[in-house]
Amino acid sequence: MTALAKPKILVIEDEPDILEVIQYNLEREGYKVLPCRNGEQGLSRIRTDNPDLVILDLMLPGMDGVEVCRQVKSDPVTRAIPLVMVTAKSEESDIVLGLGIGADDYITKPFSPRELIARVKVVLRRGPLREESGGGDRVVRGEMSIDLARHELRIGDRLITVTPTEMRLLHFLASHPGRVFPRSHLLSRVIGEDAVVTDRNIDVHVRSLRQKLGDAGNLIETVRGVGYRFAEVGR
Ligand code: CA
Repeated sequence: MTALAKPKILVIEDEPDILEVIQYNLEREGYKVLPCRNGEQGLSRIRTDNPDLVILDLMLPGMDGVEVCRQVKSDPVTRAIPLVMVTAKSEESDIVLGLGIGADDYITKPFSPRELIARVKVVLRRGPLREESGGGDRVVRGEMSIDLARHELRIGDRLITVTPTEMRLLHFLASHPGRVFPRSHLLSRVIGEDAVVTDRNIDVHVRSLRQKLGDAGNLIETVRGVGYRFAEVGR
């Protein structure tokens, strides 16, 4: 009787046809779906039902997806729930907006059911973004091993010399593979809020890191108009 609970996915989507397609495909994969037709209802059900994941349409009548996301991510009770933003427009500004207010991922309409399920699996596996990875964290991605505490970066048995900022940047990105971070977010995380720098400053660090990493530099991917992400390598 102790079957593993099905992950609960709350879907907020105002278009009935799309909601039905999403629900059908998620249920076929064995997820329990809580469908909601608007932002207000969705938000209150997120609070009462504590879902494992939220799929949130950006364009909603009344309270829009940005506002729902903002409220979910600013409430200590709900902020850890992973949230995937669905946007009809592939406009970069929407994506930046979504990520800037804490969405964990996004998917652009129109998407195939297969794409949706793949996204959902990645985000559920990844879990919520951890706030800080305590000082001594060592991250291993494929051949690459990043030991923050010992300030030691290796690819295979080759030791790579990097600056402390490059080390923090690489460690942070590699700690959240597949997740896109806007430049401004990276700046505040690895350089500090008070540094007199511009967003482009991150580009300089990334360029230098890639050079030092050689072939492995490809693992740091540029997401045009948004920022950077560490590739999801086979783990
Ligand atoms: Ca909509």
